Amino acid sequence: MGSQVASAPLLRKAPPLRITILGCGTSTGVPVVGCDCAVCGSEDPKNDRMRSGLRIAFGDPERVILIDTSADFRRQCLRFDIRRVDAVLFTHAHADHIFGLDDLRPFNFRQKADIDCFGSHQTLASVKKTFAYIFDGQAPEGGGKPRLRLRPVDATFEVAGLSIEPIPVLHGSLEVFAYRVGTFAYVTDTHEIPEASMAKLDGVETLILDALRYRPHPTHFSVQQAIQVASRIGARRTVLTHLNHEVDYNAPEVELPAGVELAYDGLSFDI
Ligand SMILES: [Zn+2]
Ligand SMILES: [Zn+2]
Ligand SMILES: [Zn+2]
Repeated sequence: MGSQVASAPLLRKAPPLRITILGCGTSTGVPVVGCDCAVCGSEDPKNDRMRSGLRIAFGDPERVILIDTSADFRRQCLRFDIRRVDAVLFTHAHADHIFGLDDLRPFNFRQKADIDCFGSHQTLASVKKTFAYIFDGQAPEGGGKPRLRLRPVDATFEVAGLSIEPIPVLHGSLEVFAYRVGTFAYVTDTHEIPEASMAKLDGVETLILDALRYRPHPTHFSVQQAIQVASRIGARRTVLTHLNHEVDYNAPEVELPAGVELAYDGLSFDI
């Protein structure tokens, strides 16, 4: 862990980052099991959405930070050729964001080291409860258990020299962490960003933002709400994620303003 306090100008500085969206789907994934709608039946791979997760790669030798280990994490590792994981940042402990946790084991085997897992106290307490077998102190059997170090945070921290700022946002009554690295921010599973957290998103130039569907939802932004929030934050590029099966990549029901686009699995860019 590095310094707990970083000044705002320092936060804006980050080495070049390669961002990859590992999954941009809501909790059911898309297609939804048993659904015959046009998006679920679509042959466009951009409408095929694994559960939400992100990779941030940086540095030489390359370091890899993941945001969440989704229920599709193993498939994501194979599809996107993930060979190293230095740390995982958890947004919150809903099943779609953490159920791939056990699939960190191959990285323990390859790297012969524990993996740091960051998140709020509340999120990591839920992870511990949900995956009791990992943390129960019993000797591993068979394929073993992931070797993890839970690192609760509530302020800026560092991974391999990279400054990361957790930013609390609301997901219903649950507090969830968004994460900011330099001028990049990943903000998913939220229907409300408190003003103090909006201030922490000031100066973000590349934003990945929750947008579940067109109709309002009690715990997620709709596409229309996300467009409004994106315009307040003023990023040059905003990518909408955590999409459900009502959202057709090729035919959004509302016009997306310049600088706002829909995510798809595998969308990757350098910043
Ligand atoms: Zn979710
Ligand atoms: Zn459907
Ligand atoms: Zn959630």
